[in-house]
Amino acid sequence: RVKQASRNDFRFFTQEMQTHSARTLQLVNALRHALPRHEFELHFQPQVALQDGHIVGAEALLRWRHPELGMISPAEFIPIAEDSGQILAIGEWVLRTAVRQLKQWLDAGLRPMVIAVNLSAVQFRHPNLMALVTRILDEAALPPEFLELELTEAAAMDDPPAAIAIMNKLDEHGIRMSIDDFGTGYSSLSYLKKFKVNKLKIDQSFVRDISDDPDDKAIVTAIINLASSLGMHTIAEGVETASQLAFLRLQGCDEVQGYYVSKPLPKDQFEAFVRNSIS
Ligand code: C2E
Ligand code: MG
Ligand code: MG
Ligand code: MG
Repeated sequence: RVKQASRNDFRFFTQEMQTHSARTLQLVNALRHALPRHEFELHFQPQVALQDGHIVGAEALLRWRHPELGMISPAEFIPIAEDSGQILAIGEWVLRTAVRQLKQWLDAGLRPMVIAVNLSAVQFRHPNLMALVTRILDEAALPPEFLELELTEAAAMDDPPAAIAIMNKLDEHGIRMSIDDFGTGYSSLSYLKKFKVNKLKIDQSFVRDISDDPDDKAIVTAIINLASSLGMHTIAEGVETASQLAFLRLQGCDEVQGYYVSKPLPKDQFEAFVRNSIS
């Protein structure tokens, strides 16, 4: 928005924007030290199959604890890391840490599950992606079917022919993909059917009012049916109540993820949660 305004147009240069860009600069600088100073950690949120209530996956979610600035939300720092190019190193750390963690859990006898890792558009388009992912899997000796890469619908639809080519390569290596925040982008259905994608993640904005809002009910039902006819699975994000879950089960949604089951948890708490859950 700022970039589109004319250079001589100072009407929009408010105090708020000045503060915002100072904060952005501060975060870009602080991000440079975040990896070497071990300020990142991963939290894990369970993904549960609606058919039998089993935990079948975990989404790895990045947390940044800065010594002075405190906890900074990925919603704030990921876009900044994407613009500054830092996302590549951070994303590699996330992938390696998540893959190693799952391998450790499997070796320790935790029930088999998939680890879902968010991929930024910058990582997805990077020519080194395939080599990086296979190297990380090899290093950890984790079979590729245990990894699922999440790409947002907006990122996938940014350049669909390019996305199709990358997805085909990942698929050849047995690596799964899901489309995150589905329903918030502008999917072209003719491209969607060409995507080598395992799962659509129904965005939480549709799930929130699913119990009362007829439009959201209709949208979620349509997404589940669309996925099913394309041979894809569905997972609903942001499930917080029993009545949301009941509706999703009735409509044939495959999996749920949300506070109703559990918030994202630090690794030891996640492991305890899985061990104490029915299986
Ligand atoms: P996302 O991938 O769509 O992740 C889901 C977000 O919803 C997470 O927020 C999660 O904590 C939150 N959530 C889960 N269940 C509920 C619920 O029942 N209610 C509500 N209100 N929220 C729920 P989080 O962890 O703050 O992450 C925000 C976004 O940041 C993620 O959205 C993802 O786009 C991005 N992100 C997080 N970690 C990474 C990462 O390692 N790499 C990249 N590229 N992006 C990441
Ligand atoms: Mg995600
Ligand atoms: Mg999402
Ligand atoms: Mg999101």
